[in-house]
Amino acid sequence: MQNDDILEDIRNDIKRLENEIIELNQQLKACKERLNRKQRILGLSKNDVPEKDDILKVPGSSGNEYIVNLTRKTCTCADWQYRKAGTQETCKHLEMHL
Ligand SMILES: [Zn+2]
Repeated sequence: MQNDDILEDIRNDIKRLENEIIELNQQLKACKERLNRKQRILGLSKNDVPEKDDILKVPGSSGNEYIVNLTRKTCTCADWQYRKAGTQETCKHLEMHL
């Protein structure tokens, strides 16, 4: 197997997992909304349910897609990964949604 093929496989795996994360996150959100509704009906505080990370898929200018985590303020783009990680700075994908 060529290195290029291996890299492509890994990229595809990452993409698939990212899609699964987004899908699961949407299911989680729906579950929480149901739970919050029930809690309101029962007179419980909705604060009892901890907030989960808010994750979005953002299209990049080069046709790539990036995964932005609005809660943790992280992005999968190179700009954030190599320059902004560990700083207070945000990349343009994060800025669009903050
Ligand atoms: Zn970014």
